[in-house]
Amino acid sequence: MADEGVAAGADFWCPTCHGGPLATGGSELVCHACGRRYPVVRGVPILINDENSVFAIDDYRSAGAYQGVSYGEASDPHGGLRGRYRRAVHRLAEYEISRRTLDVERALHDFCAARAERPRVLVIGAGNCRYQDAAEFHYTDVAFSDGVNAIADAHDLPFADGTFDFVIAIAVLEHVADPARVVGEVWRVLKPDGRVFAETPFLQPVHMGAYDFTRFTPLGHQRLFRRFSEIESGIARGPAAASAWSLKMVLSNLHPSRRFRSVMSLVALLLSIPIKQLDRMLVRNAGSLDGAGGVFFYGARQERTIPDREIITLYRGGF
Ligand SMILES: [Zn+2]
Repeated sequence: MADEGVAAGADFWCPTCHGGPLATGGSELVCHACGRRYPVVRGVPILINDENSVFAIDDYRSAGAYQGVSYGEASDPHGGLRGRYRRAVHRLAEYEISRRTLDVERALHDFCAARAERPRVLVIGAGNCRYQDAAEFHYTDVAFSDGVNAIADAHDLPFADGTFDFVIAIAVLEHVADPARVVGEVWRVLKPDGRVFAETPFLQPVHMGAYDFTRFTPLGHQRLFRRFSEIESGIARGPAAASAWSLKMVLSNLHPSRRFRSVMSLVALLLSIPIKQLDRMLVRNAGSLDGAGGVFFYGARQERTIPDREIITLYRGGF
């Protein structure tokens, strides 16, 4: 495990020049190839390519930087009744009928079980997700959370080529400015036979405000991973989950006041509980893929790039 910031320095490579490993220099990590220095804040190295990222290294030097922007539930400053109410609403919003044919926990577990050595697993955009498996986990994100090993922007991963056996990207690719570049970085840091598991929204409204850029159709998502051979892909969230999100948008925006929005969001969440049950039936039909709330892709790194003419033959929806 790359534990506790500075001690893990030998595992990190320069996210800016990608030219070499970072060395410990006082309270910083230093790249001897380009001379750039990266601070360690609260025991966590800030490994951002300052010239390329929407996130700036300086913004992490203040203690609360970016915490709470993404992970409202864990860092909600409201205690007591208000905090409990917010957490209950959050749980209600997250309630779903999981219809994945394969989820990341099972894919990872089967992968670890089949290997003699403990695999190295990189989790990008880790948030508060922590995995329990016989593997060496490296958690990165652009926001602080307990147990995160480095602050890193996935456009420039601070690792050498071929470092990892498995990369996990759950609800990440919609939040990056250039998903193709991020998937390229995932490909780069994976070993030749490495695996990727990604889950990305398709028909989901904007979340996390300004940090939400892109959606993918199922086929567009497969194309993003065209340097991987597919093991399995499909629906991560069903069409009923998508319609529940839409209902919340419709009801909560009928009037601009904050109080109205908040009340109607709760009404929509309660109304959507029975709607979400429909996903149990919907996902049996191929057409549901065309209206999924989110999709997943599980694949193995390969040298070959699948040409677009072949990509279109992979369509499996109801058209
Ligand atoms: Zn460098």
